[in-house]
Amino acid sequence: MKKFIQNPFVLTVISTLILTPIGSWIYDHTKNVPILTNWVLKPLHTVWDLIKAVVTYQVPVWGIFAVIIGLILLLWLIDKIFYSKPVETITHQRNNAPEFLNYKQGILKSWKWSWSYNINSSAKTFEIVNLIPMCTKCDLKMLEDSFGDVWVCPNCNHQKSSYINPEEQPVKIAALIQDRIEKKNY
Ligand SMILES: [Zn+2]
Repeated sequence: MKKFIQNPFVLTVISTLILTPIGSWIYDHTKNVPILTNWVLKPLHTVWDLIKAVVTYQVPVWGIFAVIIGLILLLWLIDKIFYSKPVETITHQRNNAPEFLNYKQGILKSWKWSWSYNINSSAKTFEIVNLIPMCTKCDLKMLEDSFGDVWVCPNCNHQKSSYINPEEQPVKIAALIQDRIEKKNY
């Protein structure tokens, strides 16, 4: 609804509905003031007369209101159908999302790891991605060294290496995570 109110067209319609009586009032109360009439108010009155002529030209008041209400309803429908769809889709996906998606950190052997998932919803399969060890001291995601299988903490420079600790190789850790998910043991 907030987005609907912020819609420029709706704002214009609402502004017009509010400003029309104000404009009429100013027009009625200033048309007989002689000093300003010729130089300032006359051109303004001409413009106002034009606007009024366009708006009231052979169209009854109820007709204008019917058109305005019709347009508001139409915009509301467009807003509802087109703009709300992505939110509904996200909610739908979340409701159908597997429970294990929240399982994104844990100790499998002795190191703590963090990871995310690459879900293939059509094939109903998933892949463990971004598997990174956490710093033991800072509990921070470590950075992979350019040599691979070596990680460094960006905060305290603490290092981990799966050459030194082969039981912590990412392939093995990913297999352990997969196993825990399949056995719902997480
Ligand atoms: Zn650290």
